[in-house]
Amino acid sequence: MKIYEKAPAKINLMLDVLHKRPDGYHEVEMIMTMVDLADRLEMKELPRDTIIISSQVGYIPLDEKNLAFQAAKLIKERYQVSKGVYIHLDKKIPVAAGLAGGSSDAAATLRGLNRLWDLNIPLEELQALGAELGSDVPFCVTGGTALATGRGEQLTPLPGPPQCWVILAKLPINVSTAEVYGRFRSDKIQKHPSARRMQEAIEQGSFPAVCSELGNVLEDVTLQMHPEVAQLRETMIRLGADGVLMSGSGPTVFGLVSKESKVARIYNGLRGFCKEVYAVRLLT
Ligand code: ATP
Repeated sequence: MKIYEKAPAKINLMLDVLHKRPDGYHEVEMIMTMVDLADRLEMKELPRDTIIISSQVGYIPLDEKNLAFQAAKLIKERYQVSKGVYIHLDKKIPVAAGLAGGSSDAAATLRGLNRLWDLNIPLEELQALGAELGSDVPFCVTGGTALATGRGEQLTPLPGPPQCWVILAKLPINVSTAEVYGRFRSDKIQKHPSARRMQEAIEQGSFPAVCSELGNVLEDVTLQMHPEVAQLRETMIRLGADGVLMSGSGPTVFGLVSKESKVARIYNGLRGFCKEVYAVRLLT
């Protein structure tokens, strides 16, 4: 039997880092939502007790370092499944971009294998498994829009933000999430974004309020390390995006745009600057 699962990219509408915890993780407050840019996973049962990963891209690990591999291994061990699986990752989400591509692949693997092997694992249990793989995985298991607290794994579902266009632009630079968190200094933050105000903006369905509450405390760190990301951000504002923010630890910068008539101009303007540009809708 063969099944397919979509693994959409996430963006952070706000991201605040509160403090570093004794266990080494950072306590965060984030509001995340998903966009219609997704990897597609094909999963095929194998009679042998083995996990095989393949992908059309050559620059991600295909061994136990791959998060889809780790998710398959975890579910096999925890639910004593002796069958194997072949997983093909059709990657569409840029890698190491701040869009949780690997986490979303891991979450899609958990959902897919739950179906493929008829395990009937409830969603909350899949999320708990996901938390063992990475802080963003529990959110990616259910998707939608949510407030994430703790190290990102404690979720409160929210309504979807007002529908709009999302223009994503990623420069060909690698940003290490660990390095960005390592360089982050909370005493240097002048203004923290507010989860409460973003939540209110979403609940009111106010697109202008969502745009004005966008904020990410990791932006300064990544923009200082990579001034070209700051330039890209400025370009997106100049081209007329209604709200602009870096997602996660970057380097992807996204712009929210309400009017379809503006999308082509912003997209084309950015393409002169940056090869990887996508114009997608929110997955609400
Ligand atoms: P986050 O926003 O959660 O920090 P990200 O979008 O910045 O994630 P990913 O695309 O998940 O980053 O990739 C981070 C690293 O994880 C890559 O450098 C890659 O080597 C590794 N990786 C492991 N599994 C995958 C996968 N399935 N897809 C992409 N990268 C993967």
